Amino acid sequence: MKNLLGSSVKDLENVAKDYGQAAFRGRQIYNWIYNYRNKKKNIDQIEVLPLDFRKKLKDDGFKVSELSILERNLANDGTLKLLLTTNDNENIECVGIPTEKRLTACLSSQVGCPMDCKFCATGKEGLKRSLKASEILDQILFLENEMNRKVTNIVFMGMGEPLLNIDDLLVSIRSINEDFQISQRKITVSTVAIPKMINKLSAKSFQILGNCQFTLAISLHASNQKIRETIIPSAKNYKIENIIEDCKQYVKDTGRRVSFEYLMLNGVNDKLEHANELSNLLKGFQCHVNLIQYNQIDEVEFQRASQKNLQSFQSTLYRNGIAVSLRKSRGLDKNAACGQLRQNTKVK
Ligand code: SF4
Repeated sequence: MKNLLGSSVKDLENVAKDYGQAAFRGRQIYNWIYNYRNKKKNIDQIEVLPLDFRKKLKDDGFKVSELSILERNLANDGTLKLLLTTNDNENIECVGIPTEKRLTACLSSQVGCPMDCKFCATGKEGLKRSLKASEILDQILFLENEMNRKVTNIVFMGMGEPLLNIDDLLVSIRSINEDFQISQRKITVSTVAIPKMINKLSAKSFQILGNCQFTLAISLHASNQKIRETIIPSAKNYKIENIIEDCKQYVKDTGRRVSFEYLMLNGVNDKLEHANELSNLLKGFQCHVNLIQYNQIDEVEFQRASQKNLQSFQSTLYRNGIAVSLRKSRGLDKNAACGQLRQNTKVK
């Protein structure tokens, strides 16, 4: 099967020429694929193309969309979570988070995840495989189709560790940027941090995309190495101080500030001493901390921090000169934590 999704306009002009068609036929395919108003993403629907050209593309195994919907969950606040099935019968999740002006798509980069973070439902099952760029992009098509509006922002915070699928990640970012017309600055890549990969991400991004302007978000979740290792087992391979050093280098290389995600876990990392320790760790470089309320999952012993601790933590960081914001939980009533929809479907 050859998936047309993720192809540039040049690629599609070449496909058209390979079939003896004029180059503009390739542009017609391009305009059709990336217009979110075109609901049906199968080749039969591209009615501007001659019938015999459409037939030849189909006979030769070309497709646009290859995922299908297994389950939809719409929360009271409008957040939509989709469970999608791949061609080889694996399930992945994506989430659409609407506000008045934005539609943020939270995308998966792998089926499952090898990182085994203790607070995460996806980590419970290990890694099945990485997603192809076309499968990453297909999630955007499904969200646009289901929510009937254009996606404006992208976060790679769904299932999987994006830095373990770096080539397809960057191919998908090229297409999100140039074909879906979403600026790199509206794309966030979230990682628990893999040794040497932060540097590789920026180097490969310059090589493949010509620049590196998306936001890097590090799932830090702790103010010291000891606590981090208790929640993220893979942290033992990458000292927290080395992560910060590599992030400082990333800021120098790209000119972009780094975000640090910090999940507030009751009694684990939510005390004032942790806020002060975190401030010392992060002071002196261009960064931002996102405090996140934890979405409880059944199999895990962690509990969300109290509102009082959350607010004191936030004001301590602020007083210490660290840029900080509180990320609101969305779609909490519908299995909104990473990997939960997929897990719940499996046990049914
Ligand atoms: S939090 Fe992210 S990196 Fe960690 S196990 Fe879950 S999906 Fe993987």
